[in-house]
Amino acid sequence: MIDVVLVPLIVIGLVLNGLRLRARVPPALRCAPGVSDDVNFTWITSQDTSLDDETRRAAVSFARSENLDLVDVVPADLPITAARDLLRAVDPRTLRSGRLAPGGSAGAVVLADTALLKRAEVSEPSQPAPADVIALARQIRPAASRGAAIVTAPRLPAVPENLAQRRSRLAASGNLAWLHLGLEMVPYALTVIALAEGWQLGLAAAVVYCLQPYLIFAGTAMHPRGLPAAALLRAVHAPYVWVLTSMGRWKSAAQAEYDAKLAEAADYYPKALAGGTGRFFEERRNDCPWCGSGALTVRMRSPDIVMHKPGTFTLQQCGDCGHVFQNPRLTPEGLSFYYRDAYDGLGAAGAETLFNRDDEPYRARARMPEPFVTPKSWLDVGTGYGHFCATAREVWPDTVFDGLDQGAGVEEAERRGWISTGHRGMFPDLAAELAGRYDVISMHHYLEHTREPFAELDAAARALPDGGCLLIELPDPQWRLARFFGRYWMPWFQPQHQHLMPIGNLTNALAQRGLRTVAIERGRAHIPCDAVAAVLLAAWRIAPLAWPWSPPRPRAERAVRGLIWVVAVPAAVVARALDRSLVAGLARRWDHGNAYRVLARKEGLPDGD
Ligand SMILES: [Zn+2]
Repeated sequence: MIDVVLVPLIVIGLVLNGLRLRARVPPALRCAPGVSDDVNFTWITSQDTSLDDETRRAAVSFARSENLDLVDVVPADLPITAARDLLRAVDPRTLRSGRLAPGGSAGAVVLADTALLKRAEVSEPSQPAPADVIALARQIRPAASRGAAIVTAPRLPAVPENLAQRRSRLAASGNLAWLHLGLEMVPYALTVIALAEGWQLGLAAAVVYCLQPYLIFAGTAMHPRGLPAAALLRAVHAPYVWVLTSMGRWKSAAQAEYDAKLAEAADYYPKALAGGTGRFFEERRNDCPWCGSGALTVRMRSPDIVMHKPGTFTLQQCGDCGHVFQNPRLTPEGLSFYYRDAYDGLGAAGAETLFNRDDEPYRARARMPEPFVTPKSWLDVGTGYGHFCATAREVWPDTVFDGLDQGAGVEEAERRGWISTGHRGMFPDLAAELAGRYDVISMHHYLEHTREPFAELDAAARALPDGGCLLIELPDPQWRLARFFGRYWMPWFQPQHQHLMPIGNLTNALAQRGLRTVAIERGRAHIPCDAVAAVLLAAWRIAPLAWPWSPPRPRAERAVRGLIWVVAVPAAVVARALDRSLVAGLARRWDHGNAYRVLARKEGLPDGD
């Protein structure tokens, strides 16, 4: 009976996924007369790839005519496994259109504007392996201000497949290799189950499984080497690839660098934790930091839900004003311990993936001041790697965007050209120096991370000129579904979030500083990610990575971890659909979501105040 349900599901899944990948095959590069070299461009070629003159001419001419500063050139006969991995990693349309889109590459040949390489401050690797070329292409993509594209070169010969390097290639493309392999095994396992249930229908599923590679590539610009064997003998070819991939121990330059960071972390964390976590916490306070009331209750206790570093954190809620805050709060030393490797170091790549979401929320934020001010200059406080500014510049092409942050991300943002000037430091310390320079100051998901939100608001009131606007977006602790998701409601985000304020508290505090609220967005500020984040955080809690601060885990447990993710990923897909339909619908209907935006204009305080 199972096969009657299972087989149609397998067939539909394989066909839809096949068509999705087929639509991603990079278009063929057309022959073009012209020069094969141009001083404005630099070729980055993986070792053993021999670049022919015709491909050179065509690529240079394409980059010039399309005004691109980055072109990835894919050999048409790229081996089948590498070809499928490429299509899973890169969508040519999003690569072309969005600067936030993660870059990607086949790892063979990259044509890059020489000025771009300089701006991104990368040095050309000598004799790079495909994984190194992929890592480089992804690293420079954010700085490609004119645009990037990926094309198939009919005459460029691919180097033979080397499955021992595949794990490195997957990692360089931003994948978790074990998760990637786990997902590849799902249709195989389902087809085997269908065959065991009934051979007639099972055979139909197996035939579609074997023909799927042809559905992806037949009649396209790519003619992957090894396609017939990978398709017709897929039942044995697929496990063969999995085994060789898992056994591969080869490491790219980027992985060697990551290993060095790991070794450093393995040295640091045991020392930092030797005396326990007690010294990372201040004394518990008995009054609300917002209104001074003593009516405090525990809203929730939570471990470190993202990094899984040791320690338990308590969020308390004020019975009078509703303010939610970490109590006892972390000392500055504690904050730097828990932030370490979250957005830089070991966590840099993960943080980048997290921020590279949909750019629509960034656009909505950027448009909010439109009716009130036409900014010549805009300062984004807590800018991170500058993702908001990269998008906001498209909304406001004549505005100068600067960023401020404590972390090194602000320097990377400047290198990418996503901000004009990066200020590194604490906003309250820099406010006097920045006074009067910006028509708009924005703080998106920033105040909740700070120890002293009042000091940040004072700094904004000081730095803005009269008539200037302050734009703030924050998670909303009054969101009705927050309780439903418990500690896995992303915005509780312990231990990073220090304060979560109801909107009325914020607008009152702004008014006291001469900042009059002129616009509020609630339902529209909702970020549809509650359910998917809860599923992923819960799975992440059960099956975490082995971090340098976590106890060693036996091999068997690591295998189980892979299986948990094979279940969690489809669950996350369902959760994502619920977020975008049901939960987003409720937020719209209630005009109240998991975040809110406030725009306030500096009008000064009435006389005598
Ligand atoms: Zn209070």
